[in-house]
Amino acid sequence: PGTFDARKVKQDFPILQQTIHGKPLTYLDSAASSQKPSVVIEALDAYYRASNANIHRGVYWLSERATALYDEAREKVARFINAPDARSCVFVRNATEALNLVAYSWGRANLGPGDTVVLTLLEHHSNIVPWQIITAERGATIRYVDIDDDGRLRLDQLDHYLRTERVKLVGVTHVANALGTINPVAEIAARAHAAGALVLVDGAQSVPHMPVDVQALDIDFLVFSGHKMLGPMGIGVLWGRREILEAMPPFLGGGDMIREVTTCGSTWADLPAKFEAGTPSVGDAVGLGAAIDYLTALGMDAVRAHEREIVAYALERLAQVPGITLYGPTGEDRAGVVSFTLDDIHPHDIASILDSEGVAIRAGHHCAQPLMDRLGVVATARASFYVYNSEEDVDRLADALQTVRRIFGPGA
Ligand code: PMP
Repeated sequence: PGTFDARKVKQDFPILQQTIHGKPLTYLDSAASSQKPSVVIEALDAYYRASNANIHRGVYWLSERATALYDEAREKVARFINAPDARSCVFVRNATEALNLVAYSWGRANLGPGDTVVLTLLEHHSNIVPWQIITAERGATIRYVDIDDDGRLRLDQLDHYLRTERVKLVGVTHVANALGTINPVAEIAARAHAAGALVLVDGAQSVPHMPVDVQALDIDFLVFSGHKMLGPMGIGVLWGRREILEAMPPFLGGGDMIREVTTCGSTWADLPAKFEAGTPSVGDAVGLGAAIDYLTALGMDAVRAHEREIVAYALERLAQVPGITLYGPTGEDRAGVVSFTLDDIHPHDIASILDSEGVAIRAGHHCAQPLMDRLGVVATARASFYVYNSEEDVDRLADALQTVRRIFGPGA
């Protein structure tokens, strides 16, 4: 695949042009939230200046225009993940809401005593906590697939659970947000389906960074957030296999999701409206559509190729920092996330010194406390890369880590 010049891409992002504490900004926290190119900011601005109205209800021009833009954004989402049917793409607030939707709607209707939900130790809390709530309510059980010492999933454990328990659903993150492991989702789906289980994929860290095709992966649910893929905060997506979504009860009740309401009860609207109660975030959906256009123009193969290069460079460069421990696999199955610790300096101290150098990284448990327990750490520092990061950013990170060592290091 062709690639692109990340320094040129960076020019499309106004926020990245500023200095922080008198230093140029090196933004290395895109796994938490990405920055937005001008085209996305302008799409939001244009929507509110020219097209804003509530959708579906109005018969006037503005409402029809807002409705058309909302539908068009949904079509873009469907093409981006190769969904066979745009009506199976439900707009939600974020990946967390999509995961709760599946747990509360599908889980409440389909889980009971004796049933198992299989998750993994690489999951973000948002793909753990909703299942803890629902399995407790329904008397079902959760099992967690462990990792090996490189941070790869132990598929032998998945097979064991699939063979020995009544597994109804396997929930797995496509890319681990704390370690960067790219999980073999198609392989996991094949094994789960052979045992009669559904597969829910958390695409929060994969959909922004690599081509994701729900048909090729042969999965049942995919969730992701717009704000991690150059889009606005407040918009996310649940894709589900149509027949499964059609059989599921609503998650939230209210306006727009009904066919008919009487004092005795209600009937539900067709997809996707059944799962979109209340006034949706139309402008944010339009902004997400603009982000998808931008990513598509870069080319998702090129986005992935760029990340493969920059993470390889980062792993090589950071390995030279004395006292560093790097976590996660080093191979083709590694996305643009690098978690590390430095001597016994607390990750929060690392992050705040880096901040004074203009380098923004995340420090903490990354909403993956079961994984931190497994790794035997309370927290890590994490640098994550995206389309606007170049080798220069990696160099600035590595140099700033030398400053951290000078301040905190052995003998300091
Ligand atoms: N899953 C993964 C793998 C994530 O990295 C995140 C965000 N850190 C989420 C889910 C939750 O995303 P959001 O906060 O946008 O709902």
